[in-house]
Amino acid sequence: MSTKRDFYEILGVGKSASQDEIKKAYRKVAMQHHPDRNPGNKEAEEKFKEAAEAYEVLSDPDKRGQYDRFGHAGMGNRGYGGTGHMNMDDIFSNFGDIFGEDIFGSFFGGGGRGGGGGARRGRGSRGSNLRVKIKLNFEEIAKGANKKIKVKKHVTCNTCNGLGAKDKNAFQTCTTCQGSGQVRKVTQTFLGQMQTVTTCPTCNGEGQIITNKCTSCKGEGRQYGEETVSIDIPAGVMEGMQLSMSGKGNAGERGGAPGDLLILIEEEPHPELQRDGLNVAYDLHISFPDAAFGVQLEVPTIDGKAKIKVPPGTQSGKIFRLKGKGFPSVNSYEKGDQLIHVNVWTPQTLTSEEKSMLEKMQESGNFKPNPEKSEKGFFEKVKDIFS
Ligand SMILES: [Zn+2]
Ligand SMILES: [Zn+2]
Repeated sequence: MSTKRDFYEILGVGKSASQDEIKKAYRKVAMQHHPDRNPGNKEAEEKFKEAAEAYEVLSDPDKRGQYDRFGHAGMGNRGYGGTGHMNMDDIFSNFGDIFGEDIFGSFFGGGGRGGGGGARRGRGSRGSNLRVKIKLNFEEIAKGANKKIKVKKHVTCNTCNGLGAKDKNAFQTCTTCQGSGQVRKVTQTFLGQMQTVTTCPTCNGEGQIITNKCTSCKGEGRQYGEETVSIDIPAGVMEGMQLSMSGKGNAGERGGAPGDLLILIEEEPHPELQRDGLNVAYDLHISFPDAAFGVQLEVPTIDGKAKIKVPPGTQSGKIFRLKGKGFPSVNSYEKGDQLIHVNVWTPQTLTSEEKSMLEKMQESGNFKPNPEKSEKGFFEKVKDIFS
C-alpha cells in the first residue's frame, strides 16, 4: 500500500472539526474532483476516491477515534469495513446520504445513477460476492498472516478488456431510450398524470447496445478464470469471523463493479493448547514428587516453548498465568494470557517397595490434606453448572 495523506488534510479541516464541518468540506472537495466534471482525468478520480475514504472514516465517530489514536495503521484491513478498498460504486452509493438524490442529479446532470449502488450509465451489472474459507493455526492467528490463495471466479475478459464488444465501434445507441438508459412512462391516475421513470429494458440502463459482441466472452465482458489474491489477515482473528475485501469478488458484466471477496476464518486446533477468547489454556501433568520438590520444565505456547518454574508444594488444580502469552485482540491493544492448569498424577499401580514408602508417608501428619491451603474452585464450578 502506498503512503497515504492525512485524512484531515485531504478534506482541509482541522483535527477538532465538527461533523457538520467535515460534511461540508467533503461536499466541496468531492464536487471539485467529481468524475463527471473531470472526464478521463485520473488524478481527479484519485482525489475523489481519497476524499471519499477520508470522509468514510472521519464521519464515523468510532473510526475517527481509531484514526486519531493510531493513524492509518489503525485503519488497515481489520475486518470492520476497512478502508483503502473503496470502489466508485461504493462512493456513489454513499452519496445519497450526503448530497441527497435530487441535488446530486441536478448538479451533475448524471441521470440513472440511483442510490444503493445502482448501475451507472454505460456499465454492466455488478459482480457477485465470493466466499472463501481460510484455515489458520494458532501461531498465524497470534501474529497475523499473509495468505495467497487461488480464487476461481469471473475475471475481466482479456480480449475486450471488459467491454463485451469486438471494438469501440461495435456499440450503437439504444433506440428504445435514445441512450439515456431510462424510459418514462406517463400513466393516468385519479390524482392526475403520473410520470414514472424506469430502467430501459432493452439496454438494461446502459444506454447502448453491442452490435458486434466479443467472441471470447460472448459479450459478457468477463470470463471464468483464476486469480491469486493476497490476503492480509490481521492478528487476533477468531473462528467464524468474516473479513471482506472490496472488489476482489466476481468481475461485473461489461465493466460493472466487481463483487467482494468474503473470507471466513477457521481455526486449526492445536494439539496441546486450547483457546478461550483471548486466553490460551494448557493442561500440565506433573508427578507427585515434582509437585512436592518443585520442578523446572518447558511448556508449549503459541510462539514456541516457555520455561516455567513449578514451586515446591504446588497443589493439584493450581493455575499459573503466563502474562501476555495469549492472543492479541483484533481491534485493541489488549492481549490475553496463557493459563497453565496443574494436574498432579497419582500412581495407579504400586510395587511393594513403593507401598511401604507410602505407608510411612501416611503415618506422617504432613501428608494430611489441608483444605485451607488446597486449591479451591470446586464450589464455583458447581455453582456454574446448577445456575
Ligand atoms: Zn435503452
Ligand atoms: Zn470479451
